[in-house]
Amino acid sequence: MILDYSQYNKYYGEDGIVNFEYVNNTLDKLKEIKGICPFCKEKIENSIYYKQNNKITWCSAVEYETVVQCTRCGWWEHSYTFSSDDIDEGLRATSTELTQAILRSYDIASKNVPIEVLNRYIAQNPEKIYGINDKKMEELVASVFKDFMDCEIKLVGKSHDGGKDLILLNGENQTFVQVKRRTQANKVEGVSCIRDLIGASIIGDAKACVFVTTANHFSKPAQDAAKKVVEKNILDSFELIDYQRFVDMLNLQRESYPKEWEGLLRIKDNENII
Ligand SMILES: [Zn+2]
Repeated sequence: MILDYSQYNKYYGEDGIVNFEYVNNTLDKLKEIKGICPFCKEKIENSIYYKQNNKITWCSAVEYETVVQCTRCGWWEHSYTFSSDDIDEGLRATSTELTQAILRSYDIASKNVPIEVLNRYIAQNPEKIYGINDKKMEELVASVFKDFMDCEIKLVGKSHDGGKDLILLNGENQTFVQVKRRTQANKVEGVSCIRDLIGASIIGDAKACVFVTTANHFSKPAQDAAKKVVEKNILDSFELIDYQRFVDMLNLQRESYPKEWEGLLRIKDNENII
């Protein structure tokens, strides 16, 4: 099961006097849901982010924002509160905007997992790669390559597979990529699949190829075959990427995963902030 919290809902509540009149109190309703992980049903006490600004010059006011995150499942919430006490101007009110992540869950083998969700999940739980859908494995490889290589990537349909799953296009140059999602960690990738890819590359006029597998490693004959075609100038390059190398590539990507709540922060850094 993959849990994804990249999307969110917004709620707004206020209470007090605005323009010399009492507003309908909608703040109490927010307090009932604030800070409680809807998945684990637990109140989260510690915030992972807090900032307060009580030197707002145009009126007597304080603003603060908080982010909490459930340590058990990763659910998060951002809240921004603005309190103003300026009764001469008819204002004594508090308002809060609450942004809560929406929980979406996917089966690991599902074809419907968004690729960015799968990507992040596998980077954090690489051993789960053996259980993902074959087609999704191809998309996962494509998304990683997109980050590492400056080229256009074409996913080739299974029906006209011909020994390749992806084509990397760099101008006129094509690189054929074969992706094998083995279901067992101790699998060794043998020479026959390597030969198939070499054959497909020669027939399809590709000068380079990459073989990506979730197998633990490539057999010696497989490694020799990949080396030989380059030594004999049949191909310009032949890269072999096994489980560990692919996981390393995913981890290099991992640094760039967004924290969705960072884009919601409002109180900017300046000298007035305490
Ligand atoms: Zn939780």
